[in-house]
Amino acid sequence: ATPTAVTVGIGRGAGLGILIKNGESLEVSKKLKCIIFDKTGTLTVGKPFVTSVKSYKTSHDELLAIASGVEISSEHPIAKAIVKKAEDEGIKPLPLLSFKSFAGGGVSAEYEGKKVLIGNQDFILKSGLLIPDNIKDELSDSQNSGETAVLVALDSEITGIISISDVLKRSAPVCVEEIKKMGLSVAMVTGDNEKTARHIAQKAGISDVYAGVLPDKKAEIVKRIQQTTGPCSFVGDGINDAPALAKSDVGIAVGSGTEIAIESADIVLMHDNLLDVPAAVQLSKKVMGRIR
Ligand code: ADP
Ligand code: MG
Repeated sequence: ATPTAVTVGIGRGAGLGILIKNGESLEVSKKLKCIIFDKTGTLTVGKPFVTSVKSYKTSHDELLAIASGVEISSEHPIAKAIVKKAEDEGIKPLPLLSFKSFAGGGVSAEYEGKKVLIGNQDFILKSGLLIPDNIKDELSDSQNSGETAVLVALDSEITGIISISDVLKRSAPVCVEEIKKMGLSVAMVTGDNEKTARHIAQKAGISDVYAGVLPDKKAEIVKRIQQTTGPCSFVGDGINDAPALAKSDVGIAVGSGTEIAIESADIVLMHDNLLDVPAAVQLSKKVMGRIR
């Protein structure tokens, strides 16, 4: 491409709220074979809320007081949803000690000499706890309806399940449809569990799903897709996405993205509209086509 064409493309993008940080990405966009989306905060709104709280062997209020006491120290959207739920019900978070966070799994702290764990099934199992069948069933039901369910444990006992829901962005299904119409394949990557991930992906029209991917492993999935399918773009919002954005051929950071995501991306979408993803690809095709 001529430098002029690239400049024109960058200018046109800017007018649409599509910031092209790197002129080369215009050229690569033409060769893209696949677009990989992050789930939370990218395909979904990213502001999850608590839909149900089930307590076992403890009262509802005590469960929320303990859970919010732990989560108040976490930055995760799930944590914020749990703290908000307690607040809405007028329940004060208990002051807990020794807070620890385990990326892609959950959090832990101490309460009256007991260890509190909050996190997904894998995290609880890996911590050496047993999950009774009735609780596994409850978890499964919640996940099958597209919710993210986390378990709360006190020492070796499961004392609660908190279900959290995050809605799909309205622009997600149309965005996926447009990308498919352009002949590209679409995939989704998330740290969330398989069932919840599949439910959300299906609503968006995506069948290629990589679930339970720990934050530092998203870039490896990108690499694998590059090897099997060809050049790909990764679309993400969060801090966890920076390596995947950098690894992909065209990293796209969406609107409300974190600073670090914006730094690692080639293209930044200023508006929180997923239709700007196919628009960005179309734009580069047009610009590049004109000069060849
Ligand atoms: P995503 O890719 O969906 O943003 P993460 O990798 O951040 O997901 O987290 C994956 C999973 O780890 C969450 O779905 C949740 O089950 C668990 N998890 C992470 N942080 C927390 C937390 N603060 N409290 C409870 N569970 C958590
Ligand atoms: Mg995210």
